[in-house]
Amino acid sequence: MSQESSYSEGDLRNTGMRLKHDREWDYELDRIAEAIEERDADTVGLQFPEGLKRRAPRVADDIRELVAERDLTDDVRVLISGQPCYGACDLDTYLMKRSDVFVHFGHSPMKETDKVIYVPLFSNVDVLPIIDEALDELAPPAEHGSIGLVTTAQHMNRFDEMCETLSAEGYDVETRRGDDRLTHEGQVLGCNYASADVDAAQVLYVGGGKFHPLGLAMEHPDKRVVIADPVNNVVTVADTEKFVKQRYASVHKAMDAETWGVIFCTKIGQGRWEEADRILDDNDDAYLITLDEVTPDRLRNFDVDAFVNTGCPRITTDDGPRFHKPMLTPGEYDAAVGNKPLSDIGFDTFHGTW
Ligand code: SF4
Repeated sequence: MSQESSYSEGDLRNTGMRLKHDREWDYELDRIAEAIEERDADTVGLQFPEGLKRRAPRVADDIRELVAERDLTDDVRVLISGQPCYGACDLDTYLMKRSDVFVHFGHSPMKETDKVIYVPLFSNVDVLPIIDEALDELAPPAEHGSIGLVTTAQHMNRFDEMCETLSAEGYDVETRRGDDRLTHEGQVLGCNYASADVDAAQVLYVGGGKFHPLGLAMEHPDKRVVIADPVNNVVTVADTEKFVKQRYASVHKAMDAETWGVIFCTKIGQGRWEEADRILDDNDDAYLITLDEVTPDRLRNFDVDAFVNTGCPRITTDDGPRFHKPMLTPGEYDAAVGNKPLSDIGFDTFHGTW
């Protein structure tokens, strides 16, 4: 699966949005217009996640019309980012620096800053019917009174309703905001499951895709993770066995590697310098490679035996087989070179912000 087709935070194709892409989303044009007026802006930069790039020209038109109608400023140039965008970790910093007003659509802030107007775009899928179905899969309150609840940013607008539904069934709903990388209580990212670190033996994950619940179950092996997927309308229980086998196979392939490419991702929210630096200190045959987008094509000409990716963990685990050499997470690298036992490899997660 290519990165372009994978379902990361910024790709709304698997959130139900694609089903109704013609509906009018709330692009918060009034808030953008206010910022244009306040800053007497000449340039407005817009960044959309992959699934909503098709809407970008219409939104640019709407902004220009609003500026003219309200006579906000003499003229405004709207610039649209064409860079791939998969999460709030992925701000187009080039465009941001060159725009008087910079708007990032579709993700909740990874770090609040006056430089960015974040416009979250929520999924229009009703989550309550699938939570009802998930009740059959969950241990009843008499057995486990507490339950953890997590979801992705796209369904965050329904989080209170989710909590109320579970409370009405008799559960004590345990929620927390995991760390600074997350905006909301109960939010998880593909690289951060700290919000599930609650005092409950079972966790309900509400959302689409397979990656998040797998990460969740890997990161919290003591908990049973029930997945209520409102997009595909299915309830399942996370099973990590196949995933773990795949990761073990990748580590085994890299065990004979003599030379390593250590990838340092230059995207603003994906740089883990200390991790990259640690591996370079550890290994004289490791070479640092800097990249923004980490793709098989861009690495094909590097003649090393294996790669370690310190950027987005989803590239490693979703797209790993597409690279011409084994691609490991930093923890898996340690197992491959014998720094720790294979049984100790966990899920690769990011904490904090930039
Ligand atoms: S680094 Fe985290 S937030 Fe960014 S695309 Fe990867 S999983 Fe999503």
